[in-house]
Amino acid sequence: MTLTTPSTPSVPPTAASDAAATAYRSALEVIGAVEPAVAAAIHAELDDQRASLKLIASENYASPATLLAMGTWLSDKYAEGTAGHRFYAGCRNVDTVERLAAAHATALFGAPHAYLQPHSGIDANLVAFWAILAQRVEAPALAAAGAKHVNDLSEDDWEQLRRALGEQRMLGMALDAGGHLTHGFRPNISGKMFHQRSYGTDPATELLDYDQVRRLAREFRPLILMAGYSAYPRKVNFAIMRDIADEVGATLLVDMAHFAGLVAGKVFTGEFDPVPHAHLVTTTTHKSLRGPRGGMVLCQREFADAVDHGCPMVLGGPLGHVMAAKAVALAEARRPEFAAYARAVADNALALADGLLRRGARLVTGGTDNHLMLVDVSGFGLTGRQAESALLDAGIVTNRNAIPRDPNGAWYTSGVRIGTPALTTRGFGADEFDATAALIVDVLTAAAPAAAPDGSPSKARYQLPAATAARVRAAAAELLDAHPLYPGLDLS
Ligand code: PLP
Repeated sequence: MTLTTPSTPSVPPTAASDAAATAYRSALEVIGAVEPAVAAAIHAELDDQRASLKLIASENYASPATLLAMGTWLSDKYAEGTAGHRFYAGCRNVDTVERLAAAHATALFGAPHAYLQPHSGIDANLVAFWAILAQRVEAPALAAAGAKHVNDLSEDDWEQLRRALGEQRMLGMALDAGGHLTHGFRPNISGKMFHQRSYGTDPATELLDYDQVRRLAREFRPLILMAGYSAYPRKVNFAIMRDIADEVGATLLVDMAHFAGLVAGKVFTGEFDPVPHAHLVTTTTHKSLRGPRGGMVLCQREFADAVDHGCPMVLGGPLGHVMAAKAVALAEARRPEFAAYARAVADNALALADGLLRRGARLVTGGTDNHLMLVDVSGFGLTGRQAESALLDAGIVTNRNAIPRDPNGAWYTSGVRIGTPALTTRGFGADEFDATAALIVDVLTAAAPAAAPDGSPSKARYQLPAATAARVRAAAAELLDAHPLYPGLDLS
């Protein structure tokens, strides 16, 4: 596949050109003529996103080109299979966008193979799990039985293979250390598919304990060593993780859903770039990578064929319109501006962390070296749930998150996770993030727990003086007005 050289864009990623503004206005008019409530909700979502300090570490703002690519008739095409090998006729245009997206992905990440069909990050992990099971468990069983296909196995051999598939082990990062539910936890299919153990962080430093990972891997001998996180504020050394995987014969699977943008932008290089070290890498495309909502798998050649069987193994038919948007976003991510953006995401995280620490907040691990941080709000006398709600009242959107060994559990939590990808896209720099830190501390200091109606203590109820909420909202609005979202797009 020949790739066009990514050109320098004439507008920043979230600026809406006249053409984009016209397209959105027309789209809303067309939608509104059929179901006005949907058009109104789309409009209201833009207003909400424009009017709040979006600090959710997993969210971003995609470019108009990326968003518009999704609203097309590529959605109407069934294209089960992979480019050039479809179970349906007439797939040439879906082939084009899928090939293009894969070519941009392999060029951007330096990966031997890319699979663009996963509809989300969870789906990407499922594809990777089944590819590893197919390659490491099913293929040897077929070879031993002299069979080419599972349908050729005798009933006994098939039953034995099914049992073997269900007996495999995964070692992943503990949820309260920042791991994700799909890394082998009981409420998720991954915990039902695999025997699971988790590694955590050092209680004193709260940093990933590689010695513990190695010790557990030696004891447990997992098929899959899973690395990657949703809420760990530090870089991970994937060279060490690969060394551990190799020592115990495990397959290293890295879920870079959160930090893919930092890998794409070459902020994470060498041992911190998972792609050269892992057998397979999964990601979402909508977080720091700033693409459409979706997923992707990158892998070494030996897993390519198994990964390409993701649909219909665990995925429904590919979404041609979303793969088109992935191709657009990946083309954007190959531009020099994206590397500058990724650098700014990390620099801004340092500024935000510094601003919070200087004002007395405690951060898990004492800071950050990626795009996110975890504020331990117990020092303010709040649960994560109370802090999240109070911040929202003041126009600051975050999400509560457990901290290591959290006494309040995964629902109420003692932490709030915040990240810089979205507001950096809007143009915030170190000064704006320092001002944001001041607003966060202002709210957390003024907020207080409130009792339940029957007078008992509550982990959810809180009070925030109206004057504080109003003051912070006004200050946030000033910051946001200086960095408008999709300037040029006036839907009024
Ligand atoms: N993997 C990690 C590390 C995540 O943080 C998330 C989502 O937050 C996912 C996977 C799931 O992504 P999705 O919501 O797209 O399925």
